[in-house]
Amino acid sequence: MNNTLLSRYQQVLNRIETARKDSGRHDPVTLLAVSKTKPLADIEALAEAGQKAFGENYVQEALEKIAQRPDLEWHFIGPIQSNKTKPIAEHFQWVHSVDRLKIAKRLSAQRPPGLGDLQILLEVNVSEEASKSGFRPEEILDVTEEVMALPNLSLRGLMAIPARTESMEAQREPFRQLRDLLTEMQQRFPQAPLDTLSMGMSADLEAAIMEGSTLVRIGTDIFGARNYA
Ligand SMILES: *Cc1c(COP(=O)(O)O)cnc(C)c1O
Repeated sequence: MNNTLLSRYQQVLNRIETARKDSGRHDPVTLLAVSKTKPLADIEALAEAGQKAFGENYVQEALEKIAQRPDLEWHFIGPIQSNKTKPIAEHFQWVHSVDRLKIAKRLSAQRPPGLGDLQILLEVNVSEEASKSGFRPEEILDVTEEVMALPNLSLRGLMAIPARTESMEAQREPFRQLRDLLTEMQQRFPQAPLDTLSMGMSADLEAAIMEGSTLVRIGTDIFGARNYA
């Protein structure tokens, strides 16, 4: 069991490294291990193997894990209900799924200043599907300006979850759009620490790295299929 977990983990690290080299990049790509629905024992085994950053989607489940391992780096990546912002602001280091200005304002107001800035990303709806969450690309520059003015937050970049597609070319297109959008933000706000592109999951991490992802969020290919029963 643990052998399987650790060998899957090693395979994912190898895939990341291969994609990074194939794309001619010299900058690092961070692996976020997405541990939602998975037991603390799996997290501990990966931490033992050197994994530092873990991603969670459900507040209650995450708080229980964080209480056991406050030494690890915790990223909130799930949909955010506005009545759940307080525990998120108090217990996580990163939030990837900021998809409304109201959520950013609440996180800013509820972040305990003694913890240092909460690192946040704006979620962008790059596939432009009506059902999906995220800011529209054309509103990102205005939102960036407003979010940068909020205390206790550090805006670090963008995140996206594009619609699933099969071919490498089709997978790369929305990732390219996200990268171009981050470039626009960097040009408009050159003083800001806009260095993070959170894009790529189990099925499309290679395409994301080709397009400049600095952080991939991997669940299934490390931990196996999720059981929501
Ligand atoms: C669950 C989840 C992931 C991990 O997806 P896998 O396909 O299992 O690698 C990544 N990002 C977000 C936002 C998720 O909710």
